[in-house]
Amino acid sequence: MRQRFKPWAKEKLLDNPGVVSLEPESMKGKWSSFFGNDNPIHIEVGTGKGQFIKGMGKQNPSINYLGMELYDSIIITALDRILEDGTSNVKLIRADATHILDYFETGEIDRVYLNFSDPWPKKKHAKRRLTHESFLERYETILKKQGEIHFKTDNQGLFEYSLHSMSKYGMIFQDVSLDLHKSGMDNVMTEYEEKFSEKGFRIYRMEAQFRS
Ligand code: SAM
Repeated sequence: MRQRFKPWAKEKLLDNPGVVSLEPESMKGKWSSFFGNDNPIHIEVGTGKGQFIKGMGKQNPSINYLGMELYDSIIITALDRILEDGTSNVKLIRADATHILDYFETGEIDRVYLNFSDPWPKKKHAKRRLTHESFLERYETILKKQGEIHFKTDNQGLFEYSLHSMSKYGMIFQDVSLDLHKSGMDNVMTEYEEKFSEKGFRIYRMEAQFRS
C-alpha cells in the first residue's frame, strides 16, 4: 500500500490508547480487558485503512475485532474511521505480525483474517508471505483449537501458493471460492477488494481450519 509520510500520525495514535495499542507485548494474555468483555477476538493481519474490520465490527457487535498494521501513516486512517463511528468492538494494533507470538497468549484468538496480503512474488521472498509455513505455525499457536484463517486476494499466484502451503501444513479447507463476487456469499469488502474488483479482477477466497 502506498504511504505518504504523516508526521502528525504518531501523536494522534499516542493520544488514543483506548483504541490503538502501540505496545502489544504489554497486552499479551489481556486483550479481553482492552475490550472490556470476554467476547471472541478476531484479528485481521495487515488491516490497512481498516474498512474491513470496521464493517465487520458493525455487522457483528458480539465479536471483538483487532486490526494489525505495520505503518503509522496507514493505520491512522483506520483510527479515524473507528473514532468517527464510535465502534467499541473494533480496535487496532500498530505492529509487525512477524512478532505476533509476543503479542498474544496461546489460544487467545478465535479467528485470523488475511485480506489482500502483500504477494512477495519473488521466490527468495517467500518467507515474507503471510501464509508461509512459519506464519501458519504462529497463527496456530495464538488461535484456539481448530482455529480458522479466512483469506481473500485478487492475486492468483498468492492464492495458489497459500492453498499449497496450508494444505501441506495439514489444514482443512471448508470453503474455497474462485470468484467470490459471483458466489452470492455475504461479504464485507476491503479497500483493495473494491479497487481491484472495479478493475475487473476476480477475487479468490478460502476458509481453512487447523486440525488441532
Ligand atoms: N487488508 C487491506 C485491504 O485488503 O485493503 C490492506 C491490504 S495491503 C496490500 C497489505 C497491508 O498489510 C499493508 O497496509 C501493509 O502495511 C500491511 N502489512 C504487510 N506486512 C505486515 C506485517 N508483517 N505486519 C503488519 N502489517 C503488515
